[in-house]
Amino acid sequence: MPAFRAARGTRDLLPDETPRWTRLERLAADLATRYGYRRIETPMFEQAAVFERGVGEVTDIVEKELFRLSPRTEESESWSLRPEPTAGIVRAYVQHGMQTWPQPVKVYEIGPMFRYDRPQAGRFRQFWQFDIEAIGDPGPAVDAEIIELGMRFYTDAGLTGVKVLLNSIGDAVCRPAYIEELTAYYRQHIESLPATERDRLERNVLRLPDSKDPAMASINAGAPRITDRLCDACAAHFGGVRAHLDALGVPYRLDPGLVRGLDYYTRTAFEFYIEGREGQQQALGGGGRYDGLVELLGGRPTPGIGFGIGLDRLLLALEEQGPAGGDAMASDAPTAVVVGADPAATIDRLRIATRLRADGIVARAELGQRKLGKQLEAAARDQAHFAIIVGDELANGEVQLRDLPAGTQKVVGVDDLAREVARAHQAHHHGS
Ligand code: AMP
Repeated sequence: MPAFRAARGTRDLLPDETPRWTRLERLAADLATRYGYRRIETPMFEQAAVFERGVGEVTDIVEKELFRLSPRTEESESWSLRPEPTAGIVRAYVQHGMQTWPQPVKVYEIGPMFRYDRPQAGRFRQFWQFDIEAIGDPGPAVDAEIIELGMRFYTDAGLTGVKVLLNSIGDAVCRPAYIEELTAYYRQHIESLPATERDRLERNVLRLPDSKDPAMASINAGAPRITDRLCDACAAHFGGVRAHLDALGVPYRLDPGLVRGLDYYTRTAFEFYIEGREGQQQALGGGGRYDGLVELLGGRPTPGIGFGIGLDRLLLALEEQGPAGGDAMASDAPTAVVVGADPAATIDRLRIATRLRADGIVARAELGQRKLGKQLEAAARDQAHFAIIVGDELANGEVQLRDLPAGTQKVVGVDDLAREVARAHQAHHHGS
């Protein structure tokens, strides 16, 4: 047993796994950029109050899962690792006066989040999210743009069978009456409520319809639905979101139980699920509109909407769907490995590799002192496309270029090497 291990609920991503992560992160960044969302990076820790306010006090995230940092004696602030990115991004929006920028401000962030959760399959204490936010646009078109972007991310990642669950949770006009009605409904069933839900009833009743507790299923089935009680403006907005999704050909299912039980959440709420996995606390991602949040964190009233997509769960889902899951392509194998007949000639090998790298080719040089046969075996094990064999020809400025999969070999001038490798590698990848 080693003396030290990675903390419970965290993992080391080893080099064999990271290409799949890099691929997803690039995909996310490219897609976000293509949709006009620009990168933002906020700190991994903030004043705990940013999350207490920005996520909401009566939530699992804040009540149970906030990863609080123990205060140093000279500090009066209380700090916490970020459990989700939206609160920090909105804090940055207010702090940097982004209200004065052209609206909406569209940003994305990819990085680790932290929740002091009970670790289990698909639930970690450090996990990664791809997050999108559009702040300053009341919708409904941008709502559909964001949902479609999320779906395209899954499709491009190679995951099949992803479904959108969609709901509208109203706003400050229609929600108060609904909350009263909902409270009255659950009070009638108070005897059957599990203890946690009974406790939440008076503090944040909107959490109840969203409860994944099996004991709640039948009670929730009869609960009044916000979508039947939306005010005119919210109903028109919801209709607009659906019309845009229909026009884009994005399928979704209405789920009146999908309630994000936070005061600042308004109108559009959605979650991404693998078909058949709904309600197992295993959403692949989720998001919604938060028209009250900017004001709550000290800015002018400003609408906003976003999503958080979990990358850990996406990779797990891709693995379950097998190699056809689209990440078989993820590889960081070198294009070329520079080997040599003279084990001691590391200067020649390293110089040639350096030139290839300068020309943009992924190249490894054999820097050890083993025999040529062993060097070639290692190159094949690395799944390199080419072995560049440095030998006596180097005196004439030439090397042997061996195509490892094809088993062919030819003499190439060092000056032409990069061009030759790039050309052959390109042709190989286009199947010719
Ligand atoms: P939430 O903010 O809880 O809606 O989370 C958004 C997404 O982040 C979820 O749909 C998951 O994909 C992912 N996620 C949330 N919590 C965890 C966790 N503890 N471990 C892994 N992924 C998580």
